Amino acid sequence: MVICRDGTATRSRDRRVCDCRVSDTRATVIRFVRVSSNRHLGPIPATYSSRETCPEGCGLRGFCYAEGWPVRLHWDRVPDFAIPPADLCREIRQLPRYQLWRHCVTGDAELEWLPDLVRANAGRPVIFFTHHLVTDVLRDAAARGFNVNLSADNPTHADERASSGLPVATLIESSAPNVSYTPAGRKIVACPSDTKKLNCSRCGLCSRSDRGVIIGFRPKAHARARIEKAARGLPG
Ligand code: SF4
Repeated sequence: MVICRDGTATRSRDRRVCDCRVSDTRATVIRFVRVSSNRHLGPIPATYSSRETCPEGCGLRGFCYAEGWPVRLHWDRVPDFAIPPADLCREIRQLPRYQLWRHCVTGDAELEWLPDLVRANAGRPVIFFTHHLVTDVLRDAAARGFNVNLSADNPTHADERASSGLPVATLIESSAPNVSYTPAGRKIVACPSDTKKLNCSRCGLCSRSDRGVIIGFRPKAHARARIEKAARGLPG
C-alpha cells in the first residue's frame, strides 16, 4: 500500500491517484490495537510504529526494550497490520472522551502528521515518549494537550532534555533508589510498575504534563548489560 501526503490511502496495484495528487511510496508504518494485551500497559488502546520511524539520534537504537520478547513480535508484524494515518486519526477520534491510550509502544512518531493526530485526539490523556529533538511540532502538540515525554538515556541526558521545559522520562540504573536526582537536582521517580506493580492503565503518570518529576525506567531483561551501560552514561 502507498499513501498520500494527506493520509489518504491508495492501492499501489490500481495506481489510483488521490485528490491531493501527491503520492508517497513510503509504506504505512503504524498499527493500532484497541485493547492492548501488554502487561505493562494494561487494557488500553495502543499504537506500534515500525522501525524506520526511530530517529537516528536515539542512543538505544537496535537494542532498546522493544527489541525484547514479546514486544519485538508485535514490532516485526507492524507492516502486516499497518493502517494509513487518516484511519488512525479516525480511530482516535472515536475513543471515549477521557480514554487513556499509548502512542508508539515501538518506534517513534512521524512528525509530518503528528499535528493531525493531535487534533483528532482533542486532549485525551496519552502516553507518548520520543527521542526526537524538540521541534515546534512537539511543542505545539504539548500545548494542545498531547503530552510529550522526551526520552533520555541517563540522568545527565535527562537534565539536557528537561531544559526544554517539556516532561522527561529517563533510563536509570537497576540499583537506583525509587526516588533519585539528576546531577542538576531534578527529582526522578521510578516507574510505579516496578515499585507498586501498577500498570499504565491504572497509573497514567506519563500522560500528565504537570507531574513535576522525571519518570525513571530500570533496565529489564532484554539487552540488560548494554542498557545498564547507557543508563550510566557509558559508551555501549
Ligand atoms: S509511570 Fe505509570 S504511566 Fe508511566 S510508564 Fe510507568 S506505569 Fe506507565
